[in-house]
Amino acid sequence: MRRDVLIPHDEIIGKIEELSLKISSDYSNKEPVLIGILNGVIFFFTELVRRLTVPTRMDFIRAASYGSSMTSSGAIRLLKDVELALKGEDVILIEDIVDTGLTLAHIVEHLESKGPASLKICALIDKAERREKTISIDYCGFKVNEGFLVGFGLDYDEKYRYLPDICVLK
Ligand code: 5GP
Repeated sequence: MRRDVLIPHDEIIGKIEELSLKISSDYSNKEPVLIGILNGVIFFFTELVRRLTVPTRMDFIRAASYGSSMTSSGAIRLLKDVELALKGEDVILIEDIVDTGLTLAHIVEHLESKGPASLKICALIDKAERREKTISIDYCGFKVNEGFLVGFGLDYDEKYRYLPDICVLK
């Protein structure tokens, strides 16, 4: 399959620097718990977290939707839950792509039930065109209209995660 570069690596890193400044300033007297949604978030998560100037703790959650590789069916199951206690904590949920919003809506509901003091969302890419659930993204990297994206941690069938740029698969 052909892949065209959509967002070059340097641009991704520049945007992550901006996001980390904003988050560090918003949480200046706090110690947020950062929760990454595996697996696609891995590169974004590490690049973001190591630039923050506030102390953080981190954990991960993993969900799968019963769909094909390129579409989400809407039925979500949790494959791995968070391990840290979230009651009373300031949580930032970190996601690679918000597409229909179904995965994130399910995870937000699940985490809200653990009683965090606050829960904000940070996503590298907002694909708002196919949104089915209203999601307010507090920290957003890029808005992308269409296309299936790979690279910088994002896969198609576990391939292409290693690519440094974000590319559109054709
Ligand atoms: P949603 O539930 O919002 O429709 O989809 C969320 C998940 O689907 C994302 O976390 C991501 O793993 C996957 N996804 C959605 N769009 C894309 C895409 O363009 N490329 C890749 N690799 N994954 C996507």
